[in-house]
Amino acid sequence: GAADVEYDMVVLGAGPGGYSAAFRAADLGLKTAIIERYATLGGVCLNVGCIPSKALLHVAAVVEEAEHVSVAGVSFAKPSVDVDALRAHKDKVVGKLTGGLSGMAKGRKVDVIRGYGSFLDPNHIEVEETTGSAQDKTGVKKVVKFKQCIIAAGSAAVHLPFIPRDPRIVDSTGALELRFVPAKMLVIGGGIIGLEMATVYSTLGARVDVVEMMDGLMQGPDRDAVKVWEKQNASRFDKIMLKTKTVGVEAKEDGLYVTFEGEGVSPEPVKYDMILQSAGRAPNGKKIGAEKAGVIVGDRGFIPVDAQMRTNVPHIFAIGDVVGQPMLAHKAVHEAHVAAEVAAGHKAAFDATVIPGVAYTHPEVAWVGYTEAQAKAEGKKVETAKFPWAASGRAIANGADYGFTKLIFDAETHRVIGGTIVGPSAGDMIGEVCLAIEMGADAVDIGKTIHPHPTLGETVGMAAEVAHGSCTDVP
Ligand code: FAD
Repeated sequence: GAADVEYDMVVLGAGPGGYSAAFRAADLGLKTAIIERYATLGGVCLNVGCIPSKALLHVAAVVEEAEHVSVAGVSFAKPSVDVDALRAHKDKVVGKLTGGLSGMAKGRKVDVIRGYGSFLDPNHIEVEETTGSAQDKTGVKKVVKFKQCIIAAGSAAVHLPFIPRDPRIVDSTGALELRFVPAKMLVIGGGIIGLEMATVYSTLGARVDVVEMMDGLMQGPDRDAVKVWEKQNASRFDKIMLKTKTVGVEAKEDGLYVTFEGEGVSPEPVKYDMILQSAGRAPNGKKIGAEKAGVIVGDRGFIPVDAQMRTNVPHIFAIGDVVGQPMLAHKAVHEAHVAAEVAAGHKAAFDATVIPGVAYTHPEVAWVGYTEAQAKAEGKKVETAKFPWAASGRAIANGADYGFTKLIFDAETHRVIGGTIVGPSAGDMIGEVCLAIEMGADAVDIGKTIHPHPTLGETVGMAAEVAHGSCTDVP
């Protein structure tokens, strides 16, 4: 049928991928619209992901810092947290950012079409209007015609099939709502999202157990860093159950009874007051009628794309969580820019050498490129340089002498190919290692770069000096 509206570019989904793509497309002269079922722009990251979690983690860090400083001769009263005020603070942070995006969309004349979009054919999407925060469908439909389209439909939390529906059982979105602080909480899945939320809830007073099927927490970083993390967090958690499966959950009035299977776990069900399911996220590729546009979607819901971010249908692109791992906002944004630029006729390709990962826990763990273990598995010859923060004046002054900075170099070229940092602000420091890898810097380049003293960041330079042999004597 006839379209109600028509655009050069239609972006499906307004997460970091979608809004970045739409803004870039508009800047490059394309008449652009974004389709989004939520009431606000920003997607998972701004509304129920990166940003609200960091607002809560910041407050958790302040609470812990207050306790740490009391060791250094300053005492505070025991911090007391008003959960309602904390929730309001988090909502205000999110509101500032999503409101800002909406202003930026207006400024660029990007139309926002509120509703649930589904392809009708390779040039039309039907949008069913949604209202309220629950995204209730109203039945009012509109057909949007496009010359080109970017799919940025993102991902959703995986819900384990045997887990019942109960208000005390949440995914990360539910956990971020901060409805109550349980006495005893179970976190299913020891990845970044689970451990960040575990950090928040334990600081607020919950006793937390973590259960993980694999043999270690956080799959990405160097195991040495995870060891440091575990030691620093030993008193935070009652139990970390590795190589353990959650096999049953029974919701009773007095609590949630969970059965585990694994080495050394109790055969009796364990009682919890809240369960967070953070056992992974699945792409939304199968929920958008892609087949009607002829777009191929893989078995698991990911949409295959080329280096220009094109799907098999040349005028339809896909970016962000819906195209594959790592499901991270900074990857989505870079892919978004490539897709929009290609759509506008520019030469662009996604060819990042590395994509960093960060756990914004206490301490932070940040990593990029090769770990020693990965290099070994690939038979790649590497040199490793580790700078312990016990030799960093700033780390000692800050009470963070347990941290370290480790760099991995190609044994032949001495170029840096990976790095892991554990300690406060590790996430802010890993960017330097990313830049070094992208620019092909070697140990001498990094080691001879003058870093400000005394900073945690200078440990990157010191690690590189360790590698090229002229070991530093600056504490
Ligand atoms: P999304 O952000 O998922 O956005 C997709 C949008 O599309 C959504 O708004 C959705 O409503 C909309 N949509 C989907 N289908 C339709 C449809 N058919 N019609 C209309 N609208 C539709 N990443 C980081 O880099 N750093 C972090 O610190 C971080 N923390 C996180 C913490 C949590 C708790 C979670 C859950 C995730 C976190 N992530 C983090 C991951 C990050 O949120 C995602 O990688 C990022 O949001 C992906 O962006 P995207 O644009 O691909 O998709």
